[in-house]
Amino acid sequence: MALSLFASWRVKSAYKKFSQVPASSGMTGAEIAHRILEISGISDVSVHSQPGTLIDHYDPSHRRLVLSEDNYHGTSVAALGVSAHECGHAIQHQQMYAPLQWRMAAVGITGIASQIVMWVPIVGGIFLGMRPGLMITIMAIGFGILMLFQLITLPVEFDATARAKRLIAQTGAVAPGAETDGMNKVLSAAAMTYVAAFISSLTYFLVYLLRMLEDRR
Ligand SMILES: [Zn+2]
Repeated sequence: MALSLFASWRVKSAYKKFSQVPASSGMTGAEIAHRILEISGISDVSVHSQPGTLIDHYDPSHRRLVLSEDNYHGTSVAALGVSAHECGHAIQHQQMYAPLQWRMAAVGITGIASQIVMWVPIVGGIFLGMRPGLMITIMAIGFGILMLFQLITLPVEFDATARAKRLIAQTGAVAPGAETDGMNKVLSAAAMTYVAAFISSLTYFLVYLLRMLEDRR
């Protein structure tokens, strides 16, 4: 939990700092998104702005790229980096990048698993009188699924960031040197939150797995 909190604090502070640093190109997050989609030959993805902070995402089911208002209208190196990263996901989708396909296929079962690990300790133990051994087995399976989901999220996120860096360099929207360094700091800090989420789900999984194995003995 401390690791996750630290990672999310780092991305927020990097974002806060570099959303104050304007890119000399003067391009907005929305403009760079349209430019990247265009040079990637993608014409069926729409770009939207939405209120909120760091709510940026690519929605593959509706082929929508959603940027926070600040990133949509903003010209900072952070806004351009985040926007290019989300375009990276749209390109992965277009190219049927395998880890993204796996991740999309796993969304449903992961939603169920996260409900199970939340409710089994309360409902199973108190209301259904489940055996502790059974509860631990269910929790181990639930966290196992969550851990695998976080694991396949890692290549998806790292690849989107690598694509973002290449595309940004290609468009010249962020100047080499200090501007690019700042953008890279935001993107690296964001990637670290996914590493932290994986480590924490792995830890939960191992804790329940060990308890399960201990029970068997
Ligand atoms: Zn991403």
